[in-house]
Amino acid sequence: MKVGKITRISGPLVMADNMEEASIQDICYVGDLGIVGEIIEMRGDVASIQVYEETSGIGPGEPVQTTGEALSVELAPGIVSQMFDGIQRPLDVFAEKTNSTFLSRGVKIPSLDHEKKWAFEPKVAIGDEVIEGDVLGNVQETKLIQHKIMVPVGVKGKVKAIYDGEFTIDEVVCVIETNNGDKELTMLQKWPVRSSRPAKEKLNPSVPMSTRQRVIDTFFPVTKGGAAAVPGPFGAGKTIVQHQIAKWADVDLVVYVGCGERGNEMTDVMNEFPELIDPETGESLMKRTILIANTSNMPVSAREASIYTGITIAEYFRDMGYSVAIMADSTSRWAEALREMSGRLEEMPGDEGYPAYLGSRLAEYYERAGNVVTLGTESRQGSITAISAVSPSGGDMSEPVTQNTLRVVKVFWGLDSTLSQQRHFPAVDWLQSYSLYSDDVNEYFDQKLDADWSDLVGESMRLLQKESDLNEIVRLVGVDSLSEKDQFILEIAKELREDYLQQNAFDDVDTFSSIEKQYYMLNTIISFYNEGINALDLGGYLSELLKGSSTLRDRIARMKNVSEDNLQEIKDLQNEIKETIRDTLQKGDMAND
Ligand code: ADP
Ligand code: MG
Repeated sequence: MKVGKITRISGPLVMADNMEEASIQDICYVGDLGIVGEIIEMRGDVASIQVYEETSGIGPGEPVQTTGEALSVELAPGIVSQMFDGIQRPLDVFAEKTNSTFLSRGVKIPSLDHEKKWAFEPKVAIGDEVIEGDVLGNVQETKLIQHKIMVPVGVKGKVKAIYDGEFTIDEVVCVIETNNGDKELTMLQKWPVRSSRPAKEKLNPSVPMSTRQRVIDTFFPVTKGGAAAVPGPFGAGKTIVQHQIAKWADVDLVVYVGCGERGNEMTDVMNEFPELIDPETGESLMKRTILIANTSNMPVSAREASIYTGITIAEYFRDMGYSVAIMADSTSRWAEALREMSGRLEEMPGDEGYPAYLGSRLAEYYERAGNVVTLGTESRQGSITAISAVSPSGGDMSEPVTQNTLRVVKVFWGLDSTLSQQRHFPAVDWLQSYSLYSDDVNEYFDQKLDADWSDLVGESMRLLQKESDLNEIVRLVGVDSLSEKDQFILEIAKELREDYLQQNAFDDVDTFSSIEKQYYMLNTIISFYNEGINALDLGGYLSELLKGSSTLRDRIARMKNVSEDNLQEIKDLQNEIKETIRDTLQKGDMAND
């Protein structure tokens, strides 16, 4: 086979000639060190190679060898609970092998452990007809994830042999008799990251993915299979929102891609998640988490690959019939890597120097999220929910990454720096944000809670919007110009903001709010509103109403600290509100006649 030769090096971009045997997207080994790169452009026999490690010290004339294979991930037991870099090199093994937490260049280690044995429990018998996507057997990978070993895409036939026992991922567990002869299958599949894994059918995502974050679930919900973006300036809380969702979302598996952001944030996840307990299963959260880290201290080009590595892994678990959430923090850093490469390739720059294909690349990524019927004889449903941070510089949302993202995602959680400066967290701007899934989700919760959930949500949002209008008037002519009812609305809106929308990620109880708790909390605040308006209608004074309810209002403010197994306390409070306000009114304290 022909060996190419380096002609030019420009940061992470290497040009090599004599490469006519290679094709675009091939993985190559570059230079004497043999560091990993991917061909992103071919002109004649000249290849432009995006190199995934530092290129310093590599020079013209050094060899380039193509592998003829596309950038792929290894999919097999041993993937869950791991931390990989952007091209799926395992970071902990790397650290052991190279004696450093930094990736040494040119070190080749497999993505997954090929020595470890896994107990494989067959699900098919000799003679069974199987098609792509069918489950051949299961491996209990972690306490939370049963890894389904599936017939690879493109394979179909009759089971000729199936083995029961403990195997490495390279050992044959099944033989299929196909039209093209016998096919030996191991538990390992490879998949090129830049192609999506096929499914039978795409379904409308209409079941909520509960994040247990009140502002999100109540007002701007996302669905299993939906896509959401969190744009916001530095320090507004993008990373915390993503961490919170990674911790508490009601999904089977989480893929967290740390993309170009601070390394210590990934270390935090690494340290914190094993200690945290999934309330659904009582097991450590790390048992359902996969981390992909290409933080700001790591080579920029692997950042470009990292989101594809992440979503391919997500698709693989979706294909098993699981609900998966993928977080990317931040897609702006990803887009910057794309821009840097495009600049070095001397492509025609588009808006703000980003390549013209920025929008289509983003759309392709989000297109891989969704709710699907998987391949296979039996009908499984799986979903990928994609949630991404966007970091527009200076918070200017008109920039290309934010705009192109908002064109494809259906949920927008806009973080506002004024709110974060006031320590209103999550700093989701309730007047700007939106979710196009709200109607479906509200309907779902109306049934699930068997209650007037959508009315409550609508009424609460109406009050918050009314507050904003009233504040405009207050600014112009002062609060005394408002009617007592309107002044009471301001009081209720303040409770909604402070006692409901604000949610402390660092408080052991407040970090998590089930939808039931959200319902009781919201219902209590709105009951207080209704009883109060009723009292004012019957002639009560606002000052008396506020005085008579001060203890109640203190308790409303503490609802967020009521634990999940004590929700009766919130229901009791709601009943007391009615009694207390009616009593006060009856005693005549509040009536002016
Ligand atoms: P960004 O990623 O947008 O730069 P971070 O997510 O790192 O911002 O948040 C910045 C800081 O804001 C956090 O370190 C934390 O102090 C505070 N913060 C953000 N969200 C919350 C929250 N839900 N509860 C409490 N503090 C928060
Ligand atoms: Mg951040």
